[in-house]
Amino acid sequence: MLITIQELELHPIDFEEEYGLGVIDLGPELTQRATLRTAGRAQLVEEHHSKRKSIKDIRLNGELSTTLELACARCLEPVVEDIARKFDLLYRPLGADAGQEELSVSGTEAEISYYQGEGLLLEDALREQVLLAVPLKAICREDCRGLCPHCGTNLNLGQCSCAEPAEDPRWSPLKDLRGKLEH
Ligand SMILES: [Zn+2]
Ligand SMILES: [Zn+2]
Repeated sequence: MLITIQELELHPIDFEEEYGLGVIDLGPELTQRATLRTAGRAQLVEEHHSKRKSIKDIRLNGELSTTLELACARCLEPVVEDIARKFDLLYRPLGADAGQEELSVSGTEAEISYYQGEGLLLEDALREQVLLAVPLKAICREDCRGLCPHCGTNLNLGQCSCAEPAEDPRWSPLKDLRGKLEH
């Protein structure tokens, strides 16, 4: 859904959309497991910088929810997470800040991003918001034991044979020497 400046100049745009699995590309590390639902409103915000110059921003606010599958940060097994996020974003035309002092938008605490050309693709904004909603370290369960750092065995499924920490290779010449002395 392309939200255009042209249409926003006429009226705010209320949206309510559903995206099936895979419609929004979330990259190789995330799998969408349920319909992504979103609802919200896009509005034109004009920033007046001088009598002659104004910048047309798009304010996008709303909420989204979906279910994602990602890898456990410890054992790499799949973890399913429900995510929900509210957003309030301000999109400036790309390049609008160039050569100008930092501009403040009165009355908003919105996060600032940029749009290019005639408007903003809602799907792009949603992709970014989904990625921000993903937990940095999802774990399959509190006591996940993770993978053995030496052989890669999933320790939730059973103990591997590397019971002892791997030997520091710097000591092995000494061990060889001791072996020689003992024989
Ligand atoms: Zn795990
Ligand atoms: Zn091991």
